[in-house]
Amino acid sequence: MRFKDKVALVTGGSRGIGKGIVSALAAEGATVVFTYKSSKETAEAFVSELKSGGTTAEALQHDASDTEGAAGVVNHIVKTYGGVDILVNNAGITRDQLLMRMTEDDWDTVMENNLKGVYSLSKAVLKPMMGKRYGKIVNISSVVGVIGNAGQTNYAASKAGVLGFTKALAREVASRNICVNAVAPGFIETEMTANLNDEQKKKLNEQIALKRLGTVEDVAKVVCFLCSTEADYMTGQVLHVDGGMVMQ
Ligand code: NAP
Repeated sequence: MRFKDKVALVTGGSRGIGKGIVSALAAEGATVVFTYKSSKETAEAFVSELKSGGTTAEALQHDASDTEGAAGVVNHIVKTYGGVDILVNNAGITRDQLLMRMTEDDWDTVMENNLKGVYSLSKAVLKPMMGKRYGKIVNISSVVGVIGNAGQTNYAASKAGVLGFTKALAREVASRNICVNAVAPGFIETEMTANLNDEQKKKLNEQIALKRLGTVEDVAKVVCFLCSTEADYMTGQVLHVDGGMVMQ
């Protein structure tokens, strides 16, 4: 029970990788609050599932691109649960298009969700974390932010931005015992990758040393490690969870 007495906030936690992270933190004793954008029923069903397993859990509707609402989310959690110990910035979207055809809206929407969202919630948790002199922030980037991918200039730029943000913030808040790290997943089996056909999956597997797509559990386990005391001497790091796709 590595997270007994810890309060965790996970963005985009009702489905996919975020759901896996919420489940893994809850399984080890954390109080979990997660955000979702629009799927209220799915989010509430997951909260019921968590509560029936004995976890204190809550789902909050909050769009990652709503920077003004971020402080309200954090204030609510601090008032209700006494603080925020862990923040996992997981919510992220794609709007894929070759740059030649990419609209300004495709660019802005991805940057606002994937990068500005990380800025606003990280900023909002700093005060309560500094007050406690304890905090773990984990930002979910992507292998695409490291090596690029045709058709994803907006997504790659946002995810590379998350890595720079992670390293800069890690330096700013280390003296307050707040650790900021990033995880760069490769291709993970979620709805985001569900539309890949068998041929595309076969081609992808050829680039992956472990010859399979990852699971949400593969990512969640590494996020939990970074949120745990086992990673107390790690900050500003990027852990790749990609089956050996990228080796640095
Ligand atoms: P996903 O399956 O699309 O996850 C969707 C979750 O995010 C849902 O809870 C959804 O809520 C929420 N969400 C979507 N837009 C949101 C917004 N604007 N504000 C708040 N919540 C929002 O995504 P995923 O594949 O699990 O990806 C999770 C993270 O991992 C992302 O940052 C993604 O870039 C990154 N990643 C994924 C892969 C992959 O292969 N899947 C690989 C590398 C990195 P609603 O249901 O209400 O919309």
